[in-house]
Amino acid sequence: MKRAKRRVYLKSEEELQTMRRANQLVASTLRLLRDAVQPGITTAELDRIAEENIRDHGGVPSFKGYHGFPASACISVNDQVVHGIPGPRRLREGDIVSIDLGAIVDGFHGDSAITVPVGTISAEARALLYHTYRALWEGIAQAVVGNRVGDISHAIQRYAEAQGYSVVRELVGHGIGRNMHEEPQVPNFGPPGRGPALMPGMTLAIEPMVNLGRPEVEVAPDQWTVSTQDGKVSAHFEHTIAVTLDGPMVLSEWPDQEEPI
Ligand code: MG
Ligand code: MG
Repeated sequence: MKRAKRRVYLKSEEELQTMRRANQLVASTLRLLRDAVQPGITTAELDRIAEENIRDHGGVPSFKGYHGFPASACISVNDQVVHGIPGPRRLREGDIVSIDLGAIVDGFHGDSAITVPVGTISAEARALLYHTYRALWEGIAQAVVGNRVGDISHAIQRYAEAQGYSVVRELVGHGIGRNMHEEPQVPNFGPPGRGPALMPGMTLAIEPMVNLGRPEVEVAPDQWTVSTQDGKVSAHFEHTIAVTLDGPMVLSEWPDQEEPI
């Protein structure tokens, strides 16, 4: 998702604490959803769990009504990359499901995404989940003062392509704060050493979208759902991080989030 205001807002220590609360609400909701994923559940049911949990804890779903998006979670299955609209589709054994979630707490947004296996999945799909998650962390590791945005982008692309996958070009990560999408954009590709310098107090949503096949995507007639053109599966992981003098602070990290294996 793009559409950003043309300046970078640096956050104070206090604002970072608020953003941590927003992101922890997203993280705990994602954990609930991960545990709810099973063959037979509909994506609409997952969305309802998400919205209830966010509102029960004093948050507001960021996505609902955003440019007309009709739900609280973006839920994208298999060849769907991002921005899938929850509905009557029932998850089936062997699917992979990407769940992207945002919440506002005290005026600040949290934004994070996971891709989850439905029952037993193919070895190919399992490897894609694992490496997309690793690609996210390769990017996060570059989010240090002295680097530029392009160092994050390059690390993600280099890692993903080294595994034989491709990264989506049309959609990028982003700054985040009082607005869900702020400057700078954080692409998942490009040369190192380019783009805005990373500064303490910058908050970024880093979100590799990694395709098993080719990088090209297309938008469905619903105007939202983005799918791979070649019909092969895609995975998406996202964390909101803060750049600090002590290194990247992962605001949406779960205390015990395990790697997808
Ligand atoms: Mg997101
Ligand atoms: Mg995002």
